[in-house]
Amino acid sequence: MAHPARQWTLRRRFTRLLLFAALIPALLFSAVMLWQQYRASRTSLGERVGLSASLTSTSIDDFMRSRLAGLTLLASTRDAPLADWSPDLDRLRQAYPGLTSALVVDATGHVVAASPAPPPGVLGTPASRVDDRDYFTVPARTRKPHVSDAFRGRVVGNTPLVAISAPIVRNDELVGVLEASINVESFARQRGEAFRMNGYEMLLLDRGNHVIHATGGLPYGFMDAVSDPRLTIEADAPSNTARTRFEHDMLDGSAGYVARARMSSGWTLVLVAPVRNLLLSVGRNTLVLLALLMLVSLGVLAATWLQLRDLAQGTGHLLDTLRKFALGDPLDTGEQAPMPRELQPVASAIRDMSGRLNTAYGELSNALITQRDLAASLQRVVDDRDQEIADRTAELRNAVDELEKLASIDALTGALNVRGFRRDIGALVEDPECEDMSVGALIIDIDHFKAYNDRYGHPAGDTALRRVVGAMQSCMRGASDTLARVGGEEFAILLRDADIALAIEVAQRICDTVRDARIPHADGIDGVITISIGIAAQPSPELMDHLLSQADEALYRAKRAGRGRISR
Ligand code: GH3
Ligand code: MG
Ligand code: MG
Repeated sequence: MAHPARQWTLRRRFTRLLLFAALIPALLFSAVMLWQQYRASRTSLGERVGLSASLTSTSIDDFMRSRLAGLTLLASTRDAPLADWSPDLDRLRQAYPGLTSALVVDATGHVVAASPAPPPGVLGTPASRVDDRDYFTVPARTRKPHVSDAFRGRVVGNTPLVAISAPIVRNDELVGVLEASINVESFARQRGEAFRMNGYEMLLLDRGNHVIHATGGLPYGFMDAVSDPRLTIEADAPSNTARTRFEHDMLDGSAGYVARARMSSGWTLVLVAPVRNLLLSVGRNTLVLLALLMLVSLGVLAATWLQLRDLAQGTGHLLDTLRKFALGDPLDTGEQAPMPRELQPVASAIRDMSGRLNTAYGELSNALITQRDLAASLQRVVDDRDQEIADRTAELRNAVDELEKLASIDALTGALNVRGFRRDIGALVEDPECEDMSVGALIIDIDHFKAYNDRYGHPAGDTALRRVVGAMQSCMRGASDTLARVGGEEFAILLRDADIALAIEVAQRICDTVRDARIPHADGIDGVITISIGIAAQPSPELMDHLLSQADEALYRAKRAGRGRISR
């Protein structure tokens, strides 16, 4: 079974083409691009994180170093008694924002001056001893400036602090230590928040890997010990050591970069950058790209749809024109339907074609009408001729019939002649219905007729012949008997359906009637015309010549027996 041709529309096919030829390649291309972008971003993220870690660690180092420089300068240049350093401490704190407090500690570890000023009565008490703090012990021992690990204040508040300290040496003797506490917040929070805005986490560890500052996304608090090897650098690594690693399983289970930098203070700065943020940005880009693709596709589809609609309108109008032409409706020649220029040649070709076809159709119609008229008149002529021929044929047939009749009839007496008689005999013999019919025959001869002619003349003889015939005819039975003149004054009668008895009866009646007509004949028997009749009969129409010759012989006998009689 043949399948019908599959239906398709330009619109559906174009949509499919757009999908396969443009959208899918565009999507694949976008996917490859996004993947490459992701790879590049990942690499640059690692670099960026490493760089940020070194820059930030340097910047914190600089922050510390600048304050430490101020502190060292003051410690080495001021020569007033230690207890009088409070105004200097105030100026120092004003010059370097971020210094929470500043202390002067004597060589025994007692705080002798402080800024801001401590509550009255604190100085000189055991609570003012700081000889357990490394910011005191380290400079006292090494005679070098020092940056401390994390600790909580106890003289003035208990905020998270780090300390910088410098030894006060006079004449090569340690007379005290100048110390300034720096609020961790002052240098760490802002930087940490800036990193968090980029999706990073920042961790600042002291020499003992205790937390100085941890941003909110990390599970560490101030001074918590960090032992995770992913976040720390080995203790003996020199300063300015920087390490960046990609970790597949970071603190919260995600993947990302961890950059660690050892600072000159001995602290460690750790930056954690999960790639999740990258994925988010790639995802955002993907969405933007998809939206763009969709917009472009919709635009292309809309443009195509409009084009195809115009095309469909144009072709629809052409189709309408063709349909009108096919149905024989009049075409609008006036206003033109709006149609793209590309279809105009087709439209004008159709108009030309329909015009020419209309003309040809008109001419053809006229020719057909003319032809029909011609055929009708020709038919009339033929009919007239046929009628004429039929009339002539009928006339001829009548004439032939008439001639036939005339050819079969004896002109003098009106009886059949020999030809007519033979024809009747033939018809009888041929007729199958008469096959078993008995037939009688009479041969009749006028007696002494030569003498009649001789005495009365030939015309009178003709008249007498006609009278004898009339007398004989009056004795016949009708259409079943046939009378014919077979010689000058000799006749024959054929009797259908007659046996010998009936033939004798008819013959006798004829014989008597002619005699009784009393046509004067001075030389005849009893002075009148008489006839002699020979009779024969047979049971069927076969061998008619034989029947007639028998009747003829019987006539001879009648003549010999004296004439004016019948004989069989
Ligand atoms: P028979 O009694 O023996 O018959 O004697 P017949 O005189 O009648 O016989 P025959 O045969 O000698 O003569 C016949 C005559 O019939 C001769 C002829 O003049 C006459 N006849 C034949 N035909 C016509 C005809 O058409 N018109 C006239 N008027 N006479 C005819
Ligand atoms: Mg005769
Ligand atoms: Mg005779």
